[in-house]
Amino acid sequence: MRFWTHDRFLFPLPTGHRFPLGKYRALRERVEAEGLGPVAEAPAASWESLALVHDAGYLERLRGGGLTRREERALGLPWSPELVERGRHSSQGTVEAARDAAREGSGMNLGGGTHHAAHAAARGFCLFNDVVLAIRVLRGEGVARRFLVVDTDVHQGDGTAELLADDPEAFALSLHGGANYPFVRAVGDLDVDLPNGTGDDAYLTALSDALDRAIPTARPELIVFLAGADPWQGDALGRLALTKPGLRARDTLVLDRTAALGVPLCTVLAGGYAPDIADTVEINLATARAVASRHDSGQACPASDYLAS
Ligand SMILES: [Zn+2]
Repeated sequence: MRFWTHDRFLFPLPTGHRFPLGKYRALRERVEAEGLGPVAEAPAASWESLALVHDAGYLERLRGGGLTRREERALGLPWSPELVERGRHSSQGTVEAARDAAREGSGMNLGGGTHHAAHAAARGFCLFNDVVLAIRVLRGEGVARRFLVVDTDVHQGDGTAELLADDPEAFALSLHGGANYPFVRAVGDLDVDLPNGTGDDAYLTALSDALDRAIPTARPELIVFLAGADPWQGDALGRLALTKPGLRARDTLVLDRTAALGVPLCTVLAGGYAPDIADTVEINLATARAVASRHDSGQACPASDYLAS
């Protein structure tokens, strides 16, 4: 299977900023070194496709550097042309990974999962909502109609929830810390608030129950998995208490359910703010290994199989 990256695209960040800009290259190098699969550089999402998701005025302000001070504060990153360019590549990586998933059964973006981005707002390091972009693009291509978003980043996917609120054929499931950012929530199709300190066992039970509830309603033709590294116990922004084996069990659970359903899986990274970037990379790499090994064992299901059945 193929992986998508955008790690060559960098942007100016103040020293000490917690955005883990270095993780993307480090992860791509590990994926290549381990031979998990070829890694391709994602092209830039077109402004036309981004307009399938975002407000025209908002996109115009992003393009031209016209964000207000308040908008830039909500984004949490300093605006630059490089930041916007990078966001377009990161977002297209998810579109490409979703296309791979539909064709081959599995796809993975070594980036993406910018789930706080809303219709007309950047929030929490997120400019564009890549997952909703992929949903709208794939639908337009007639590849799949019904989607399930399984968002296990430790923060609620508020942008995704907002964007999918009126979409009866896309189900937004978010499992997240209840006492964590964002403090003003959008309402998703299923939101599971977990208390600070939730450990592996309780987390895995909650995820399993949530999938039991979501899947029969969602009846997905394709699943998008946000495999955030920030539920890890050492994460600076996490507040849950998952171990690395616990996160691997999370990935296995999502992969098992997807295989049981016989639908394609598109995996994206979302957040991860370990004080040492190597920890985040290790967690992301474990996800990439799990996805690749499941694919190589022949358990991945392309959309054509599913739609023909
Ligand atoms: Zn997060």
